[in-house]
Amino acid sequence: LDQRDGWIWFDGEMIPWKDTKVHVLTHALHYASSVFEGQRAYNGEIYKLHEHSERLRKSAELLDFEVPYSADEIDQACRDVLVKNNLVDAYMRPVAFRGSAELGLGAHNNPVHLAIAAWEWPSFLLEDKLKGTRLALSEWRRPAPTSAPFASKAAGLYMICTLSKHAAEARGFADAMMLDYRGQIAEATGANVFFVKDGEIHTPTPDCFLDGITRRTVIGLARDAGIKVTERVIMPEEMSEFDECFLTGSAAEVVPVAEIEGVVFPGREICSAMMEAYQAEVQPKKAAAE
Ligand code: PMP
Repeated sequence: LDQRDGWIWFDGEMIPWKDTKVHVLTHALHYASSVFEGQRAYNGEIYKLHEHSERLRKSAELLDFEVPYSADEIDQACRDVLVKNNLVDAYMRPVAFRGSAELGLGAHNNPVHLAIAAWEWPSFLLEDKLKGTRLALSEWRRPAPTSAPFASKAAGLYMICTLSKHAAEARGFADAMMLDYRGQIAEATGANVFFVKDGEIHTPTPDCFLDGITRRTVIGLARDAGIKVTERVIMPEEMSEFDECFLTGSAAEVVPVAEIEGVVFPGREICSAMMEAYQAEVQPKKAAAE
């Protein structure tokens, strides 16, 4: 990944992809003082860009640092990266982190850096996705709100996700479903989760995990389509009562789940309706005059 051609926006400048280096004594590398975003561009337009830029700044604030660029400046930098790399359908990764001026837990003297990379990543074909993914139940749990700032898209919190994903893959699953510190269904390693029963959607209340931008978009699309959505506590014992299960995320978009740890979800009706509604939503709208 680090040897590609292309340009990365780094602290206000476009730098050749291969030359965007950081020092090994970078605070973020030692103490996880790093937050990031993940967003997609569809046909040249970055979906909900401003929300992502604002969340990046908020994620940093929750880790007690400030991104030295406004949300508008981050928006512009993201658009510039897309244009500079001639990208149309792409995934974008802004990352803000504390640098290497000094090393110690106290980090106020370390300048904050911002880098933004993008690469081509067309969304998956609906037909290929419909088979659904298989998830293991993770042994690792989402921490309590008193243990970590859960609303921050903080690199440090992804340690749990990588451990969960690796453990799932070692057992032949594609990814993991994580419970929270209370044993309630929380989220997958990089996506939120939804269930369907009797034509209604149920999804866990995001009180200790990321309330994803895609999650909120899909809830809105479902309600617009007249589908009832309930946010509530969902226990793993309830999973077998659901007909359908799907995940949402900026990278994953809407993807059906075929199985969680032996519990099979055969239905695709509401899920495929949401997959189509989401694709219609993210594609840039043509001007009315066209
Ligand atoms: N949970 C986790 C742990 C994630 O990494 C993501 C992806 N950012 C999500 C949920 C979904 O968030 P969003 O819809 O904002 O991409």
